[in-house]
Order: sequence, then structure tokens, then C-alpha cells
Amino acid sequence: MNLQTANEEWRADFPILNQKIYGQNLIYLDNAATTQKPRQVIECIEKVYSTVNSNIHRSVSKLGADCTREYENARATVGKFINAQSPREIVFTSGTTEAINLLAFAFGEKFVDEGSEIIVGESEHHSNIVPWQMLCIRKKARLRVLPFDDGGELKIEMLDQLINPRTRLLCIAQASNVLGTVNPLERIIEKAHNRGVAVLVDGAQGIQHLETDVQKMDADFYVFSGHKIYAPTGTGALYGKEKLLEQLPPWQGGGDMVQSVAFEKTVYADLPLKFEAGTSNYVGAIALGEALNYLTNKGLAKIHAYEKELTDYAMQEIAKIPDIRLYGASKNRTGIASFLIHNTHHSDIGEILDKMGVAVRTGRMCADPTVRHFGISGLVRASWTFYNTKTEIDRLCEALEKAVKMLK
Ligand code: PLP
Repeated sequence: MNLQTANEEWRADFPILNQKIYGQNLIYLDNAATTQKPRQVIECIEKVYSTVNSNIHRSVSKLGADCTREYENARATVGKFINAQSPREIVFTSGTTEAINLLAFAFGEKFVDEGSEIIVGESEHHSNIVPWQMLCIRKKARLRVLPFDDGGELKIEMLDQLINPRTRLLCIAQASNVLGTVNPLERIIEKAHNRGVAVLVDGAQGIQHLETDVQKMDADFYVFSGHKIYAPTGTGALYGKEKLLEQLPPWQGGGDMVQSVAFEKTVYADLPLKFEAGTSNYVGAIALGEALNYLTNKGLAKIHAYEKELTDYAMQEIAKIPDIRLYGASKNRTGIASFLIHNTHHSDIGEILDKMGVAVRTGRMCADPTVRHFGISGLVRASWTFYNTKTEIDRLCEALEKAVKMLK
């Protein structure tokens, strides 16, 4: 099967794509914000609620046992998908944001003191900045910033000066949600590890587009959101090397995260339940497993090859639009183009595109420092994935040219 035929087959799995917006075929190019869900994932949620729904890890019933088994199978699927050594290294969370906040609390309690330093990339999403800032305020620690150059590449050589004996953690995205840059993680992590510094990788924009092997990249922690990889909202995971997770204290107390509770002393559960207090979104987690199985069954290598071809085409076509200014020039990139055209305002462009059936994102993309770097107030961002087509990219370009004419 060639990639074009494969794309048609994949696309048919996503019911939402087959609809009209203001009388025109929907062209969904806001995949970096959230992805659409295949029929298989939607049906999985219905199936769990119709067949095995029962609270996990507590019920003695057959239903409870079946539901718990499906939840733990999903954990194993996540572990396998990112090549963790063991499912004990996978903590289910409500998404990237919760995973980073969990880590900022737990890692902070264990390893961060007054005077410690945390490094974040300048191009990070607010989710990978603000929790670290809050930790630094709480602990009187210092937040340091690894800058990027005007092409959108991190200035990795600056790590040599930034890292010092007070550095505790380096927090870097796998790929930027604004500039599309794929960060050279293996080099960054090697530099950090050579100086004894642990690394958190924010995989929110990477896992759905790039081969992700936490052992190969040697990340100490890796986080991602389910809704950006074709799974339901309110799902995601934190991966951590077992020997590190074992040293961290729990971040929330409640049911399921304990072995025994007495007023004198509480004994916490083993990994990973120590970090999963209360009734979790187990139905969502099972559907996240389904989404990852869906991708694996379709063939990750084929999906990645198609996306690369589409990205090359899209970047070439978008660059031809008169007066366009693209932000982020990395060759190694995911399917994201952020831009401004002539002197038009980003939100005006977005609204006109929407009336033409083309959904994009506009504004600051939850990445104020990145936008501020370029001295602008916001951007238009088109982001595509394996169910998008070259025809849709053509429609985007035509719509953009029309929008600019209307605004001039
Ligand atoms: N990190 C990056 C790079 C992102 O793109 C996003 C969302 O856009 C997040 C973190 C936050 O993800 P969520 O809102 O799903 O927790």
C-alpha cells in the first residue's frame, strides 16, 4: 500500500473529519492543540462503560478484576510504546500539565533546596515553565533559561556555562509547540548527564510524530498528553526511571496510593500507585492504550514517513505565500508552521480562515517567552498530522491568500 492510499484509509477512521463547517469541508489544522479521535478509541470508551466499568484496584467482583486488568494492560501498552523498562515506571496522569506539576512537587521536595537551580528552555510551553517557577519560589531556588536562536534552535553550547554544581534538573521539550523544532535530545541529555544533572523531557508535541524511546534518549523523566495522541482528554502519563521515582515522595494523598493507613503512620503503596491518589480516569487510560495500539497496528514507521512527506510539502507551499514571515527554520521539525503575513493581525486571519472551513490556532500558543523573543504579539499556527492531505495544505494556502487580500 502506498502512503497516499494509507492516508485515505487512516482518514476514514476519524468521523469528525467528515463534516462541513459553514458549508465547506472541514480542514482541521489545529492538531498541535488537540488531535481528533479514531472510531476505535471512541468505541473503546463506550465498550468499557457498557461491559467492565467498575472501580479499579478495590472491587472483589469479576467486573472490578476485569477493569483493573484492562487498566494495567493499558499501562503496559504505554510502557512498551515509549520503551520503558517496566510498567512500574509509568504513572497515569490527566495530561502533560499534571505530570509536570506532580514532578515539580515530588522532585522539588526531594532534591531542590534554597540555592538549587532548574534549567528550562526559552521555547518551552507554559506548562514546562510555570510549575518550575512555582517550585523555585517555594524553595528559594533559581530558574535559569537556555535560550534559542532566531531560527528556533536551542543554543545547546550554552549548557556548558549554565550547568553548575547547584543545577538539579534540565526541562526540555521533545519538540516546540510554536516553532516545530525537534530538539536534539540525545546530545542535550548527554551533556546534562556528564555533569550529573537529571533531565525531564516534555513529549507533548513529540510522541505523536517521532519515534520515542526513553531508554535510547536516556531521559530521566518523560511526560505526554493523551489528547494530543488521538486518545481522550484528561489522560496522559509520567515516565520516570524506577530508581528515581522510588526516591520521590507522593504528591497527593488519598485512596489507592496507600498500603495501610493508621493515625500514627501511613505506609504508601509501591510504584506506580504511590502517585495515583483517588479514583483515576481509568476509562480514559484504557482508551489511551487503545489509541497507542491503533497507531502501532497502522504502522508507526509508515505514519512517520507520510507525515515527513506532508511536512516537506506544506513548508514548501506555505513559504510561497507572498509576504509571509515564518517563525522557526529548523530542518528537523514536526508538522507545525507558525507565521504572520504582511501586516495583518493573527486573530483576523484565524477568523477568516475559520469561515472558509479551515481550523488553525492563533495567539501566543501558551508560550509567551517564545512569542516575546520575536517581539510580536502572536502568530497563526497551522499544524497537521497523518490524517491531513496535500489537498488540505493547498486549500490552506488558497484561503490564506484570500484572507490577506480581504484584510489589505
Ligand atoms: N507542553 C507542550 C509542548 C504543549 O504543546 C502542551 C500543550 O499544548 C503542553 C505541554 C500542555 O499539555 P496539556 O494541556 O495537554 O497538559
